Amino acid sequence: RRKIAILTSGGDAPGMNAAVRAVVRTAIFRGCDAYAVHEGYQGLVDGGDMIRKMKWDSVQGYLTAGGTVIGTARCKAFRERPGRLKAAKNLVKEGIDALVVCGGDGSLTGADLFRAEWPSLLSELVSQGELTEQEAKDHAHLNIVGLVGSIDNDMSSTDITIGAVTCLHRICESIDSISSTASSHSRAFVVEVMGRHCGWLALMAGIATGADFIFIPERPPQGEDWRESMCQEIKRHRDLGKRKTIVIVCEGAIDSNLQPVTAKDMVDLLTERLHLDTRMTILGHVQRGGTPCAFDRNLATMQGVEAVNAVLDSRPDIPSPVIAMNENKITRVDLVEAVKLTGEVAKAIGRKDFQAAMDLRDPAFNH
Ligand code: ADP
Repeated sequence: RRKIAILTSGGDAPGMNAAVRAVVRTAIFRGCDAYAVHEGYQGLVDGGDMIRKMKWDSVQGYLTAGGTVIGTARCKAFRERPGRLKAAKNLVKEGIDALVVCGGDGSLTGADLFRAEWPSLLSELVSQGELTEQEAKDHAHLNIVGLVGSIDNDMSSTDITIGAVTCLHRICESIDSISSTASSHSRAFVVEVMGRHCGWLALMAGIATGADFIFIPERPPQGEDWRESMCQEIKRHRDLGKRKTIVIVCEGAIDSNLQPVTAKDMVDLLTERLHLDTRMTILGHVQRGGTPCAFDRNLATMQGVEAVNAVLDSRPDIPSPVIAMNENKITRVDLVEAVKLTGEVAKAIGRKDFQAAMDLRDPAFNH
């Protein structure tokens, strides 16, 4: 009887619970035992009551709940080998041989490292007398399957990540609210949105709300005098009769010299050069909270089912997969490759090769 565990790790994202529910129920449906590891990798390191067997009813109400009910954490211990040794021992002692990790690229990097180290972790545990030869032999291979839970949509190799669309809806609702007051008072608003070093949320929210100007890390403003060009553009919109101005700034926005572009700087610019009554709104954590939208519930459900299918198909010679979505289909992509490509975006930005950064992102960036 296979024993499959799921954990959620890194930043919470709406839809993570739906993924946990789908993994638990599909595992049970397929005749396996399902486990939830609480508090991300911390639960793996601590073991004991943090690794709990799940029944069909254990995930009742999960489909529509925001955040992650089984908890998430940033776990320092798992970054070090002694922490991963404890995690390996806890999994073997529970008899778990497959782990589904739902998290961002950091969490999936950790998962891949854990899988790669698995044989050496087991032999070290045997030499320490923590495991018997037989236990190590029975658990010689650890199956890892990744699910990408991230509001930022910052993972390469997949068109969309669990939580990003819900977050986009939240941002759009907020900007719609701001727009009413902006139009009424003929004001300008600079709105900072999440996304870390990925501009997807800012870009998509900008298109969906008809923003006047958008700042994303992958495509910094062009030209030395971009501030003047931006002001002229906004003035042109005003001259056409627009009574509101909305500028969206991704939290990781930069200029072409890799210097941060902040919402505060843009407020000062619009106030000083265009004499607009300009306010700043940093949306913050309202963006990531609340009930997942239908798309994220369904994405997480379909991907959770596929994660269990992938566990049941796994063989030691098949590389660990991440469950992705490509051109509207649920797919499996190579976890190592996806993590590597995601890292390439940051590297491309670091060497100011912004076109390469755009090419590595979701295809939507290049439309
Ligand atoms: P996200 O998964 O949202 O990108 P983090 O980067 O904070 O979030 O990663 C979440 C957790 O994954 C970390 O707290 C740590 O426990 C684990 N992790 C991240 N990177 C590594 C790594 N290189 N090696 C081992 N564990 C890692």
